[in-house]
Amino acid sequence: MLQESNTFSPVYTRYDDFTPVFGKAVLERHRGKLTEMGGFLDILDSTEAVEVAPVCAAWAITANRLLAPDFARLLAEFESGLRKARPDALLLAMHGAQTAEGEDDVEGRVLTIARAVLGPDKPIVLSLDLHANITERMVANATAIVGYHTYPHVDMFEVGQKSARLMLRILSGDCKPTMAMRKLPLIIPAENAQTYRGPMAKLIQAAQALEASGKAEAVSIFPVQPWMDIAEMGCAVVAVTNNNARAAQKHADTLAARLWKTKKEYEVKLHSVQDALSEAEKIEGGPVVLAESSDSTGSGSPGDSTGVLKHLVKAKLSGPAAIFLVDPAAVAQAFEAGVGATAKMSIGGAFDKKNSKPVPVKAYVRLLSDGRWTARARGYNTGITTAMGRAAVLEVGLVQILVAERSSMTVDPALFESHGIDPVYCKIVVVKSPNGFRAAYEPIAKGIFLVDTPGVSTANFARLPFKRIPRPIYPLDAATPAPEDLRV
Ligand SMILES: [Zn+2]
Repeated sequence: MLQESNTFSPVYTRYDDFTPVFGKAVLERHRGKLTEMGGFLDILDSTEAVEVAPVCAAWAITANRLLAPDFARLLAEFESGLRKARPDALLLAMHGAQTAEGEDDVEGRVLTIARAVLGPDKPIVLSLDLHANITERMVANATAIVGYHTYPHVDMFEVGQKSARLMLRILSGDCKPTMAMRKLPLIIPAENAQTYRGPMAKLIQAAQALEASGKAEAVSIFPVQPWMDIAEMGCAVVAVTNNNARAAQKHADTLAARLWKTKKEYEVKLHSVQDALSEAEKIEGGPVVLAESSDSTGSGSPGDSTGVLKHLVKAKLSGPAAIFLVDPAAVAQAFEAGVGATAKMSIGGAFDKKNSKPVPVKAYVRLLSDGRWTARARGYNTGITTAMGRAAVLEVGLVQILVAERSSMTVDPALFESHGIDPVYCKIVVVKSPNGFRAAYEPIAKGIFLVDTPGVSTANFARLPFKRIPRPIYPLDAATPAPEDLRV
């Protein structure tokens, strides 16, 4: 049951957004795929020592809380599947920053249920996204927690393998896991938290060195995703050692202190859209990528912002541009008009009416589709086909607008390619992502600009209406002191 939440999003999550499958269908979806569960299966399938009992596989794109009845239904289905499986051990792949109506900590709740079914002694290994918000309840109920080491996230499969290997070591008696967490009054903007360069890369390398030396089983840095207004919010480091609780705490504290010391290095520089577009024209060729992170669909924004679109349709472009937007009404209009027709319509501002206004355009309807596409780039759902409702490609001059009824990740060029748009031949490609897009787009981009538009996943935290997070917290409170017992 895997989803990241954004508690500022105008769009709530429903049961169907998870497209859940149960029992054997789980294996069909994930076996041979580059997901955490694909990684679990890769290791478990290679040994005769265990029998796999698949319970549930459910993934939803980031949005606001899962509705209460839908959450109750998913929980009940998970619990009954788990009871039927009567497992000796449980591997769980979750995000770590999922919320539901009335529940700030979905993972903690799921773990509590799992712990009640399994009893106090059977192992539960939990794999989490690097943006997880670690809670006391997760640490208390999981035997071991294993986080991604990459951002952009490209190591889901390896994290699944690592979790399954650790589980086999626990079951064989080779490892008696001891786990410790260090929480920090800190949130880190996603835009500068790459794990292949900069301060986060050094921290991840330190974590990996502890693992490689055998001093730790798993060390995970969780710089948290910033768009959750909940009480237990903040960055964390979690360390799992083999039967050495003091060492686990020491590793977690040491790396947390290093994260705290480098916190200023994550500050983000954003460009105005007009500046980015005129700078892009000075660059020879394309694509030049404009990252509209304030409307990042992977960060829970609705994907309906016209902050870039309104400038794009007026700009003097030297080549084609591509942008994705969620707008069910525009899709319906395109289907009504039909392929080859030109229609007057308004695009965008469909959900987040506070931050965006619709843009009136005269659009040529180039393509209509059922909105299904298969992710190819290493990252989210690689090899898995997801659905974004019906979709249409609309042309306004040189601007190709892919509109869909529902949200979709935009980090993979396969999104556009599946709809007849090749980003390689575009002058401008707009992605709705703070950093995840870099995995597939940095190798082909001639330039990258992070643009400043209003939205519910803005890097400008001061613009977000936080009410419940613990204060002081950095960077909202510049003078936030380090935790008293942490030696920095
Ligand atoms: Zn993430």
